Amino acid sequence: MAQVTLRDVRKSYGKTEVIPPLNLEIQSGELIALVGPSGSGKSTLLRVIAGLGDINGGTITVDGTDVTENDPGERDMAMVFQSYALYPHMTVAENMSFALRMAKVDAAEIARRVAEAVRILALEGLEDRKPGQLSGGQRQRVAMGRAIVRQPAVFLFDEPLSNLDAKLRAKTRLELRQLHDRLGATSIFVTHDQIEAMTMADRIVLLDHGRIQQIGTPQDIYHRPLNRFVAGFIGSPE
Ligand code: ADP
Ligand code: MG
Repeated sequence: MAQVTLRDVRKSYGKTEVIPPLNLEIQSGELIALVGPSGSGKSTLLRVIAGLGDINGGTITVDGTDVTENDPGERDMAMVFQSYALYPHMTVAENMSFALRMAKVDAAEIARRVAEAVRILALEGLEDRKPGQLSGGQRQRVAMGRAIVRQPAVFLFDEPLSNLDAKLRAKTRLELRQLHDRLGATSIFVTHDQIEAMTMADRIVLLDHGRIQQIGTPQDIYHRPLNRFVAGFIGSPE
């Protein structure tokens, strides 16, 4: 488990400040849904936490350890991108196990974790296929599998279910929530699906123009929106 703390974290692209100084404390074991309109900075914030690209100020700590200067590989985090890139010449199973093989994890343990990810993501029977022989939704699930098998302290998900049909989405979000609980992971889950946010998250962070408009439990956000933006976004009665 890991507590993640952001203090006065800022991010600009050129002269455009996408994240003004932002403070956020995520408790160990929490599943946070990060929601907000397109362009509000959700993906940028995840990348900042993952350590992808420089920030313009502030500190990020994990369990009290300052990781601001750490490379992504030194943060015990796994990120699932919105636009995922699989290794085209590797099978589904090889794509999922690649990082574990590089880390010299025991072969039996790798097989166990891949089998678990395959089951959670409903990819049974597709283990030996190459990405080119998969649908978009299947490829996205393989990308998720690559993060799941690593069992990191912190999961960073960027709209991982957006390509799935409604039924598979509902099933997968339940499985992901259970996996998060079982691993004792800390997760940040970007979604534009209110139902996903309301049903999966311990707390919801609502972002607009890189600023946190409200952070609270689904009940708080729904019943006690702090402002019109929150009320409008979540669709609750004002
Ligand atoms: P969201 O994920 O909430 O849709 P993003 O984090 O992708 O938002 O983008 C936030 C803002 O930053 C947008 O205005 C976007 O155009 C801008 N932005 C994102 N990535 C880059 C980049 N690499 N270079 C310049 N501007 C970017
Ligand atoms: Mg995004």
